[in-house]
Amino acid sequence: LLLAYEPAKRLARVRISLETGIVGVRMMFQLADRPLTLAEKPDAKPLQPGPGEIRFDGTSFAYPESPPVFEGFDLTLEAGKMTALVGPSGSGKSTILNLIMRMYDPQSGRVLFDGQDISYATLASVREKIAYVSQDTFLFAGTIMHNIRLGRQDATDEEVIAAAKAANAHDFISAMPKGYETDVGENGALLSGGQRQRISIARAMLRNAEILLLDEATSALDAESEALFRDALQQLTVGRTTIVIAHRLSTVHQADTIVVLEKGKVVESGPHKILLKQGGLYQKLYEYQLMP
Ligand code: ADP
Ligand code: MG
Repeated sequence: LLLAYEPAKRLARVRISLETGIVGVRMMFQLADRPLTLAEKPDAKPLQPGPGEIRFDGTSFAYPESPPVFEGFDLTLEAGKMTALVGPSGSGKSTILNLIMRMYDPQSGRVLFDGQDISYATLASVREKIAYVSQDTFLFAGTIMHNIRLGRQDATDEEVIAAAKAANAHDFISAMPKGYETDVGENGALLSGGQRQRISIARAMLRNAEILLLDEATSALDAESEALFRDALQQLTVGRTTIVIAHRLSTVHQADTIVVLEKGKVVESGPHKILLKQGGLYQKLYEYQLMP
């Protein structure tokens, strides 16, 4: 496995592993700088397909040698719907994604995909269901074609191009002298943040996973990039269980449900319009545009 990456300092093992699926899972084991806390159960079975409901059921979790993040946490994320997680820094948003990706197993309680406890499933079958789009898009040495194809290794060129079109990436790629054969190792710096994000979306499109996890960028894109990204994301989320750590107001408007977290507890949940009227934490976060 000879995937170089750059810039090396931005390496985040978890993100790379999830963007690249099974290949990435292997990379994660090679690259992890801390011991992985979970081992596959000897009788682990692959997850069965289903509509894509995710449920936390009495889940208690603490990071090693740290106080609990969740205690008896219950939350259902509806199949095929988009749920936005908001809440102050440290409230547990990233930990929810970590538990769904099974980076850790809870100490008690369960995380269920369509009623199946993922602690008893094979890691590969859990991660196969998931596509992850992070705020920093990692580009690997090689061409743009190669970088998008990381979503699904056996995709044809036509399928890669179709994914790029759906992600609003085809036009800028085609405008480059070498098009899809542009080497991002050499030219990665020429790509804007918005272009990198759309390559990341194209990769996730190709992956065609049931579950989409998105850690939204905090940094602002210019208006045109923002619109292209928003539109691409809209296409990507259709029919997938989508969980987004939302930093943008346009995302919370788009979400079917917003879950407001504070100190590891759900303090409010519902659609934007209803939460805004409630005058609780959501309203405060929204008014001060504090979406950390
Ligand atoms: P958010 O994403 O909402 O900012 P996190 O899920 O990252 O919140 O963090 C929840 C809590 O877990 C915080 O108290 C944070 O300090 C702690 N935490 C997060 N990651 C780790 C880790 N790897 N080891 C120990 N504690 C962690
Ligand atoms: Mg976080």
